[in-house]
Amino acid sequence: MTTRSFNKDDFFSEPIEVLVVGGGPVGLSAAIELGLRGIKCVVVEPRKEISKLRPRAKTTNARSMEHFRRWNIAKDIRNAAALTPEWSQEVSFCTSLTGREITRFDEAWAITASPRELYAEPGQSIPQYTIEEVLREQVSKLETVRFAAGWNFVRLSQDNEKVIARLQNETNETVSVESKFLIGCDGARSNVRKEIGVFYEGDVETKANFNGVFRAPGLADVVSHNSAIQYWVVNNDAPGLMGRLDLKDTWWMMCLGVDPVEGNANPEKYLHGMIGDKVPVEVLATDDWSARMLLANHFQSGRVFLAGDAAHLNPPWGGLGFNTGLGDAVDIGWKLAAYLQGWGGEELLESYELERRPISDRVIKTATENMKTLSSELASVPINANNKEVYYKKLGEYIQKTKKMEFHSLGLVLGYRYDHSPVIVDDGTTWPEEDVVHYQPTSHPGARLPHTWLDINHSIYDELSEGFTLLRLDKSVDISPLENSSGKNKIPLKVVTIEKPGLIEKYEKPLLLVRPDQHVAWRGDKLTEDFDSLLNSVCGIKELDKSKI
Ligand SMILES: Cc1cc2nc3c(=O)[nH]c(=O)nc-3n(C[C@H](O)[C@H](O)[C@H](O)COP(=O)(O)OP(=O)(O)OC[C@H]3O[C@@H](n4cnc5c(N)ncnc54)[C@H](O)[C@@H]3O)c2cc1C
Repeated sequence: MTTRSFNKDDFFSEPIEVLVVGGGPVGLSAAIELGLRGIKCVVVEPRKEISKLRPRAKTTNARSMEHFRRWNIAKDIRNAAALTPEWSQEVSFCTSLTGREITRFDEAWAITASPRELYAEPGQSIPQYTIEEVLREQVSKLETVRFAAGWNFVRLSQDNEKVIARLQNETNETVSVESKFLIGCDGARSNVRKEIGVFYEGDVETKANFNGVFRAPGLADVVSHNSAIQYWVVNNDAPGLMGRLDLKDTWWMMCLGVDPVEGNANPEKYLHGMIGDKVPVEVLATDDWSARMLLANHFQSGRVFLAGDAAHLNPPWGGLGFNTGLGDAVDIGWKLAAYLQGWGGEELLESYELERRPISDRVIKTATENMKTLSSELASVPINANNKEVYYKKLGEYIQKTKKMEFHSLGLVLGYRYDHSPVIVDDGTTWPEEDVVHYQPTSHPGARLPHTWLDINHSIYDELSEGFTLLRLDKSVDISPLENSSGKNKIPLKVVTIEKPGLIEKYEKPLLLVRPDQHVAWRGDKLTEDFDSLLNSVCGIKELDKSKI
């Protein structure tokens, strides 16, 4: 697609409510969440074109796909993806692509070809550059969003009413832009983060890794194993992983523990160590990276927020980075829209950091745990076996045990919770135990609303409104306090009554107040007489007097 470019005058032509710095997947997602809610924003992004030479994220998880469904672009994402779930949902562990298979995982990252009750959308295998293309396309359709390609954020100042950002384009033209809020989605080296005096805390691994994109015509025909989204190569000479970027001849690779100078000097050597010598390869690009476990000490400073890699970095094990950033974009997006439209208070904005920072922390810890056992470690696990068959059988069992959490993490992906949020009305009941692998649906306030199919391809999420939804699962439950509520005129609220056998048991209570991001804000058996207080509380307008609910 061609990208519209904006000049200086375009910035001034209309007031900007939110300036989004960085048009990677997180910045684009923030702009879509805001833009769909009628908020005028500008995305500032230096890259005019999207390169295919650094694919980075290759997996979009089920939760991100649910947000894409809410934005009505889940189908576009799937149509743009070269690898369908029907083609493969599996991860293979092997000695090389042309060697022996040790074991495999099915339905990795909840990539399934058929619908499941637990989620409204399965995961999708798709390179980050394709996601960005679809998101840019979506942004270009929104009247409310301008995509300023070719522009860089330089510095900012802020007061109680506005943010002034200094921007510069490639010809050194500069402009000062005023907005009500600014979201820094400018990645790991975030200038916005530096400008607001926020810093990362955590560790960086010293071990270097080496990535590449290559063409290998005929490789697919000589692979000894069934199709897989990822092949983990477990051998001592060239431990790493790889997979296809399309169903033609383009592949990605990740060589683990390789010195970048050595890797760059002879990437083919490592590649052949992983695929064997049957086909020639053409390396198109390489880049090196080290795992970073870093979390910003704050996600907000006044009218400036950080989201995505600008706020947190985790090792890529488990496919969590971009997906977590997308969750940030959703959270800050609806909250800023609520504030700007007059139905969200200061506390709602403050809840962004309180909700999202602990999630990022948990993601970093999970990815770090996944990193403990990679191909190199697996290649040298001490296994007591007197022949090869026994050795590989035992190794396969070991891989199943140690790597399960990396490919099956619905407990984290769907079960993350906003349990210390000031805009969630906790009812004092016990949460299910936290577990990365096993997702136990719960309507405990703060949880993602458990998913249900109401009909074929008709999700309970499709019934929720853009604003708050009062979900009533028993029409005999009196909701008359709502009629007398003045809050309902101010705060967008839709009542949805659904009666279906088993629903009350599943959702634990007949009434659930669901937020725009599909999280439960409150649940109960009846509506309080002072429903306004409850609404104000979940919108961060004032603290709730719990004795009244
Ligand atoms: C090898 C690897 C594999 C990965 N695999 C996965 C995976 O499977 N699943 C997953 O979820 N995540 C994965 N990730 C992580 C994922 O790539 C990142 O988390 C994701 O790119 C973060 O998106 P972002 O928009 O926050 O930042 P970025 O993608 O870094 O985007 C930041 C944007 O800001 C722009 N920018 C920078 N400076 C400025 C400035 N001064 N002014 C304006 N704009 C600026 C940049 O041009 C860029 O477009 C992987 C990462 C790596 C390295």
